[in-house]
Amino acid sequence: MSDATAKTAQNGSANRPQPRPGVMDIAAYVPGKSKGTHGVTLHKLSSNETPLGASPKAKEAYADVAKSLELYPDGASTELRNAIAEVYGINPDRIICGAGSDEILSMVTNAYMAPGDEGIYSAHGFLVYEIAIRAAGGVPVSVPEQNLTTDVDAILAAVTERTKMVFLANPNNPTGTYIPFEEVRRLHAGLPSHVVLVLDAAYAEYVRRNDYESGMELAATAENVIMTRTFSKIYGLANLRLGWGFGPAHMIDAMNRIRGPFNVSGPAMAAGIAAVKDKAFVETAIDHNDKWLPWVTAELEKLGLSVTPSVGNFILIHFPDQDGKRAKDADAYLSERGCIVRMVGNYGLPNSLRMSIGSEAANKAFVSLIAEFLG
Ligand SMILES: *Cc1c(COP(=O)(O)O)cnc(C)c1O
Repeated sequence: MSDATAKTAQNGSANRPQPRPGVMDIAAYVPGKSKGTHGVTLHKLSSNETPLGASPKAKEAYADVAKSLELYPDGASTELRNAIAEVYGINPDRIICGAGSDEILSMVTNAYMAPGDEGIYSAHGFLVYEIAIRAAGGVPVSVPEQNLTTDVDAILAAVTERTKMVFLANPNNPTGTYIPFEEVRRLHAGLPSHVVLVLDAAYAEYVRRNDYESGMELAATAENVIMTRTFSKIYGLANLRLGWGFGPAHMIDAMNRIRGPFNVSGPAMAAGIAAVKDKAFVETAIDHNDKWLPWVTAELEKLGLSVTPSVGNFILIHFPDQDGKRAKDADAYLSERGCIVRMVGNYGLPNSLRMSIGSEAANKAFVSLIAEFLG
């Protein structure tokens, strides 16, 4: 054995490249399952995807780009930003597009968080925030909620000199709850002006509440607020990976400097442009949700389960025991029968399951299976 080999053997992994401190502390994101126990999926209700597919116009636009796959896309996503800006009446120069809003969340975090800085999010908040914070070398700070709802006072109480960012999913996933715009304003008003407030409005289109606003107004006027949006949910383009952020010009500028030069693909851009313009398609999806969200909620309550009131396209269902066994058994029972929902133990909710509102057939099948399970 050579000296070098002996040394490697002795030191174990010490001679290999080492990830930056903190990287190995990250628990990799676990996506919703896509297959049932026997490899059969009848109803995939695990990732808050739409049961209505994508707009036919988006599919057509996507297919059209197949003629020119050899060409690089427009790295600045100009046409897509213009289309979004027109639909929402905002300035296209203050929009940034990404491979899903997850990429926007990573970009803003990488642009603003330095090692040791703190990033705050609420206890049952979207897990991508913690990953983005740790990936940037930051320190994740999770604060308690009230009734599975963001607690603005708890967030403000957690702010320290090291706080650099606050992440708020509104509505939140996986709880389905939201805070009114007045509360978002109060949160913003209470933060030091150098702290970045990220308003993740992935489910904004679904919300039917007069006191809700996605955060667009705050992102348009404040110097430290970025709102993120996605094409993965109501637009039905999750497979393409497309999202966008809207914020002050100086923040968009900083994010553009660290962005991959061609981070959004041409087919995704083309589909996104067609999708954002197809307002009738979005209305249909809203109507579908408005019909089935209350129906599934009511049916489950009739079966004696408690359901957190949701304003999104998914619900959080609670099983009455303390050790998580009932929720786990229900998940296994559903999975055996090809109905896939989401276990949310990694969100600190071991007694709950999250179910995405599906097609009429899926919703009815789900309720019947739960009734059988409880039976
Ligand atoms: C689904 C979801 C997103 C969207 O992620 P994409 O990367 O755009 O697919 C963002 N935030 C929350 C809270 C979500 O649930």
